[in-house]
Amino acid sequence: MLDVVQIAVLNDNYVYLAHDAASGETAVIDPAVSEPVLAEAARRGWTITQILNTHWHPDHVGGNAAIVAATGARVTGPKGEAERIPEISRSVGDGDTVTVGASTARVFDVGGHTLGHIAYAFDADDVLFPGDTLFALGCGRLFEGTPEQMSASLATLMALPDSTRVYCAHEYTQSNARFAVTVEPSNAALSARVVDIDARRAKGLPTVPSTIGEERATNPFVRAGSVAEFARRRAAKDNFRG
Ligand SMILES: [Zn+2]
Repeated sequence: MLDVVQIAVLNDNYVYLAHDAASGETAVIDPAVSEPVLAEAARRGWTITQILNTHWHPDHVGGNAAIVAATGARVTGPKGEAERIPEISRSVGDGDTVTVGASTARVFDVGGHTLGHIAYAFDADDVLFPGDTLFALGCGRLFEGTPEQMSASLATLMALPDSTRVYCAHEYTQSNARFAVTVEPSNAALSARVVDIDARRAKGLPTVPSTIGEERATNPFVRAGSVAEFARRRAAKDNFRG
């Protein structure tokens, strides 16, 4: 089984280590930076063997070069953005698989935030790394793709089991929650979740990971019901000052 460790870096980024004890393999997912990641791996006595990138944004690949220089890790990233992924050695897309020790991830194309964005789902471990596609109570901004594309990408991820833990790449939950309650003010599951989120943040605790089941019950973007309504909610969130 994968041991997933969350490392908070920059303002609100999460970088993850995914470690398979049996083989000793350790993957880093979306290293925004290198130093805290190398330090955490060293502290645990883990050697980083792989980097998995979800998309080309600098706060997801910024640590690639230094981690490769320090460890010789091989880099897997999105086929559609390979030329923008530093040190990439394997390009993957929909239908490909990636292994970390004994654990296998399915790769999904989940464009929308960027065109070539991918996600990694370790089915047997109940672990999803959606990058900036699906957030706790939110979804990524449409910098490159269309509402149709993002809507389809979210539907792909929501086909995963409810128990899947969603290790998204940012702590945006409290801001997302303020918007979500304006969309569904009478959703009791959402109201309860917001109380929990506020309590966690008041103690400085992360709200990530969530689960697919929680997102299915409370996330206004995966609950939009149509592309038109998704597009309306995404635009409303972009302009939301809550
Ligand atoms: Zn991004």
